[in-house]
Amino acid sequence: MGARTGREFVEDLRNAPRDVYIEGEHVRDVTRHPRLRGIVRTLAELYDMQHDPALRDDMTYPSPATGERVGMSFLTPRTGDDLVRRRRMMERWAGHTLGMMGRSPDYLNASFMAFAAARSFFAQNDPAYGENVARYYERVRDHDLCLTHTLIAPQVNRAVGPAQQADPTIVARIVRETDAGIVISGGRMLATLGPVADEIAVFPSTVLRGQPGSEDYAFAFAIPCDTPGLRFLCREGFDLGRGIDHPLASRFEEMDAVVAFDNVLVPWERVFLARDVDLCNDVYGETHAVIHMAHQVVVKNIAKSEFFLGLVSLLAETIGITQFQHVQEKIAEVITYHESMKALLRAAEVDAALDVYGVMCPARPPLDVARNLFPRMYPRIVEIVQLLGASGLMALPTEADMVGEAAADIAKYLQARTAPARERVRLFRLAWDASLSAFGSRQVLYERFFFGDPVRMMSALYNVYDKEPAMERVRAFLERAAAGGAEEGPA
Ligand SMILES: Cc1cc2nc3c(=O)[nH]c(=O)nc-3n(C[C@H](O)[C@H](O)[C@H](O)COP(=O)(O)OP(=O)(O)OC[C@H]3O[C@@H](n4cnc5c(N)ncnc54)[C@H](O)[C@@H]3O)c2cc1C
Repeated sequence: MGARTGREFVEDLRNAPRDVYIEGEHVRDVTRHPRLRGIVRTLAELYDMQHDPALRDDMTYPSPATGERVGMSFLTPRTGDDLVRRRRMMERWAGHTLGMMGRSPDYLNASFMAFAAARSFFAQNDPAYGENVARYYERVRDHDLCLTHTLIAPQVNRAVGPAQQADPTIVARIVRETDAGIVISGGRMLATLGPVADEIAVFPSTVLRGQPGSEDYAFAFAIPCDTPGLRFLCREGFDLGRGIDHPLASRFEEMDAVVAFDNVLVPWERVFLARDVDLCNDVYGETHAVIHMAHQVVVKNIAKSEFFLGLVSLLAETIGITQFQHVQEKIAEVITYHESMKALLRAAEVDAALDVYGVMCPARPPLDVARNLFPRMYPRIVEIVQLLGASGLMALPTEADMVGEAAADIAKYLQARTAPARERVRLFRLAWDASLSAFGSRQVLYERFFFGDPVRMMSALYNVYDKEPAMERVRAFLERAAAGGAEEGPA
């Protein structure tokens, strides 16, 4: 089949009615639902970019299995040039979404590429699992499937593990095994994009470490989103169908959903890990999937920070505040964040090396730094929009008002130094949607948490980072100083 068009993506979704619950409604065809069709349209645009003749070589490459052209984000990088090719493709999608879609499909495509290359890791659990994950990657690549994933147990009682909850059936677990596969019941949170994805990958987070009775909760698998017994419980939708009034939410609202499993049968050929707590805890790190995902994340961060740099610069010019020193300082601060992300990406690519699986792997430390810094930078960038936009972020009539009875007042009082009222309102509506709306606030929460709890991510960085050379430098200096001190001391 190869790289899909937007239309093929939408048809495939329509042909796979699933159980989605949103604002009191049970939705089966997500392509037509008002809260979800905006993101379906945007995903279709991304898929269509793969077929733009001008972008073909950037966006796709021939599948090693079928020879058909498949999405470049599936590429197994073997050289530095391959990494650059993959990154260019990711830049196209991130540029299209202004970095506002954390879950454009390239994010998980890169992870399954890494899992397949590291099939020997999964084979330690069972040789069949290594084969399963490799075959699954090929299937996702050659059918261009869109994946969501869910890693985290429901937030009921974080003081104890899944098996120690007052009700041990809350967290998704293996309830039995049959000749056909494993059967899963319980809940998981949170699957971004879940309701509109083709398949869901259910992987472990690292929270099982050292907790007794965790084996039933330790697994990795992937199944279609229309699998019987699988239910997506959506939060309230932020896409109110308001086009230019809500310019970001109407395009990039990805939707987040809790996932409920009610005796869901996972066929054996879709099982990648089962009941091995240690392998589950190590899967992202040991397969290097986390590094390839972080590579995509930093590309997204660059597109996003570039968008904000453009936004605050335009906003400041429009209302005539660029001459104030603190305004320049704030915009310069956004420049430093944007350039830092670019530099970290470049460092990760320049220092890339072949890993034990024969994959060209970006250097981990710069990507770890980027993924720990951006959750701190992003809320500040949003704060800068608020500090510069001030009351202009509330003086926001709608498009309907522009042509209504108040049109003359709006034209007079909402014009700006460099723009007529309509243009200025559209710009400020964009700034509002990026910094204050439900969509904008969710973006802040997303950046804080989507890659994991920021506290534990920093702790992980502390644990993986090689601090020995730095400590050795200090020890050597102390020795030198002590020796010098003895020489310089009184006779
Ligand atoms: C918008 C959004 C989208 C997301 N999308 C996805 C997705 O698509 N797929 C997916 O799998 N996940 C997704 N996540 C979930 C994300 O992985 C988690 O938010 C993250 O791992 C933190 O877990 P938690 O939210 O359960 O927080 P909790 O673990 O419940 O933490 C709550 C608070 O308690 C503290 N805390 C809890 N336990 C500990 C501990 N052991 N040590 C120290 N402090 C602790 C935390 O620091 C935090 O302050 C998403 C999250 C958000 C906000």
